[in-house]
Amino acid sequence: MKEHYDIVIIGAGAIGSAIARELSRYKLDVLLLEKNVEIGGEATTSNSAIIHTGYDAKPGTLESKLVVGANPMYDQLCDELDVPFKKVGAILAAVTEEELKALPQIMKKSYQNGVYDIEYLTGEEIKRREKDLSDDVKGGIYIPRESIIDPFILNIAYAENAYTNGVDVSLSTKVTDIKTADNRVKSVVTNKGEINCDYIVNAAGVYCDQIAEMVNLCDFKEHPRKGEFFILDKNVSYELDHIILPVPTKLTKGKLITPTIHGNLLLGPTAEDIEDKKDKSTTREGLESIIEDVQKRVPKVSARDSIKQYAGLRPTRTPEGYHIESYDLKGFIGLSGIRSTGLTSSPSVAKYVVDLLNEEGVKLIADPDFNPNREGIRKFSELSWSEKEELKKENSKYGQLICRCEEVPEAEIIAAINRPLGATTLDGIKRRVRPGAGRCQGGFCKPRILKILARELNIPVSEILKKEKGSKVISRSKI
Ligand SMILES: Cc1cc2nc3c(=O)[nH]c(=O)nc-3n(C[C@H](O)[C@H](O)[C@H](O)COP(=O)(O)OP(=O)(O)OC[C@H]3O[C@@H](n4cnc5c(N)ncnc54)[C@H](O)[C@@H]3O)c2cc1C
Repeated sequence: MKEHYDIVIIGAGAIGSAIARELSRYKLDVLLLEKNVEIGGEATTSNSAIIHTGYDAKPGTLESKLVVGANPMYDQLCDELDVPFKKVGAILAAVTEEELKALPQIMKKSYQNGVYDIEYLTGEEIKRREKDLSDDVKGGIYIPRESIIDPFILNIAYAENAYTNGVDVSLSTKVTDIKTADNRVKSVVTNKGEINCDYIVNAAGVYCDQIAEMVNLCDFKEHPRKGEFFILDKNVSYELDHIILPVPTKLTKGKLITPTIHGNLLLGPTAEDIEDKKDKSTTREGLESIIEDVQKRVPKVSARDSIKQYAGLRPTRTPEGYHIESYDLKGFIGLSGIRSTGLTSSPSVAKYVVDLLNEEGVKLIADPDFNPNREGIRKFSELSWSEKEELKKENSKYGQLICRCEEVPEAEIIAAINRPLGATTLDGIKRRVRPGAGRCQGGFCKPRILKILARELNIPVSEILKKEKGSKVISRSKI
C-alpha cells in the first residue's frame, strides 16, 4: 500500500469493485478496501442473479435511470470481462383474474421507465413457451432483456480487471474511522493503519450508515431486508427456459423461479426487514412460503429437489431509494439504498460515481495502458471430449477430477488460487470454479480442496477458512 491515494473505495462488493474498475481507466492512485478475506461482497454473494431491465422501477427515480441504463451495457461488459451471461427473458405470469387486471398498469409503468420491448402474452402463448407452467396461468407479460449472470464472477472480474490496471486492493482491511481537516477528508483509519487520501467513496453496502456516521453525515438508516432462497438440483422432472415472475402486489414483488447460469433452478427470495446485519439464517416459514408461492405458477416445484437453502441481505435505506451524493465535506462520496438491483446497476453506478468525482475536482486523464479485457478460467466441463483429452495431455492436473458433481479438475482449482486476487478460502474456490456448488455440496471434494489450498498457499490445512475470519474448517493439522 502507498502512503497516499487519490481515492479510497470502501467495500469490494459489485458496486465498489465496479467503481474501482471504472476509475482504473484514468491516471489515478486508487485503493479498494475490503474488510472480508475475499473479494465478493456480502449482498453480492446472495442474490437472484438477474440483470434487470428496470421495467418495474419507480419511474423518474435515480434507480430507474441507472438500472434501465445499465441493462444494455451487459453484452460488451461480459464480453470484455469474460463473465457468464445469458438473455433468457422473463415471463410475468398472472394466475387470477385480479392479477390479469393488473397487467396493463405494469405495462404502462414499463413504458414510463423507457422499457418498450415488452409484450402481452395470452395464457395459451405462455403455455406454448413454457409447458410446465400451471393451467391456471391466464396471461402475462414477456420481458425479453431480463437476463441471468454469474454474480460472483462479475464481482471478481471487476476487481481483477481493476487490479491488473493498477488499482491497489487490500483485503481483511476494515475501515474503523475517517479523519477530516479543514472541511476535507484526510485519511481512513483501518485495522492495518491509517491511509491518507483526497477522496473517499462509501460503497459499504448494508454497513454504509456506519461509514457515514464516521463523518457525521448519516441522516438515514440502512437496515437489512432478508431474502431466503432455494437452489434446486440440476435433475428435476420439469424444464424452465425463462425467469418466471409473479404479479407484484402493493406489498411485495413476490417470489420468482429462474434458471441459473449454471443450469440449476433458483427459487425466492422472501422479503423480511430485520435489524441484525449478520443474520443470514433461513426459516421454516420463509422457505415454506417460497414453495407455496412458486407452485401457483409451476406446480411441479418441490422442496425435495432442493440442494441448498440460504439467505442474503438487501441493503435497504430509510427513507428508501438510491442515494449517490457529494456533501459540504469535500472529498466524501456516499452511496446508500442500493437495494435489490445493485448487481444490475453496478456498471452505470460506477460511471455515475466517476462523473460525480470529476465534478468534485478529480482530474480524469485517460490511461493509454488501460486494458478492458480479462480472461476467465477455462471451464473444463464445457469443453468437447477431444478438447478435454488435449488439455489432459498438456497438463496432467486436468486428469485429476476433484468435484464430480460439477466436473471440476484440480487444474481449475489451482488456477483459481494462483490468479490475481486469487482464492484463499473454500468459498472463494467455490465461487470461482464451483466445486461444492453441486448436488453433494462439497461432501466428496471438500477434504481434497483443503489439501490443494494448503499446498498452493503454503499454509497448514488447519489454517484454511470456509469464508470469514473465525470460520476455520478443521481444528487438526492433518486430514
Ligand atoms: C435477496 C437479494 C436478492 C437480490 N437480487 C438481485 C438481482 O436479482 N439483481 C440485482 O441486480 N440485484 C439484486 N440484489 C442486490 C445486489 O445483490 C446488490 O445490490 C449488489 O450485489 C451490490 O451490492 P454492494 O456492493 O452494494 O454491497 P455488498 O455486496 O454487500 O458489498 C459491500 C462490501 O463492503 C464491505 N464493507 C462493509 N463495511 C466495511 C468496512 N468498514 N471496511 C471495509 N469494508 C467494508 C463488506 O464487507 C462488503 O464486502 C439482491 C440482493 C439480495 C440480498
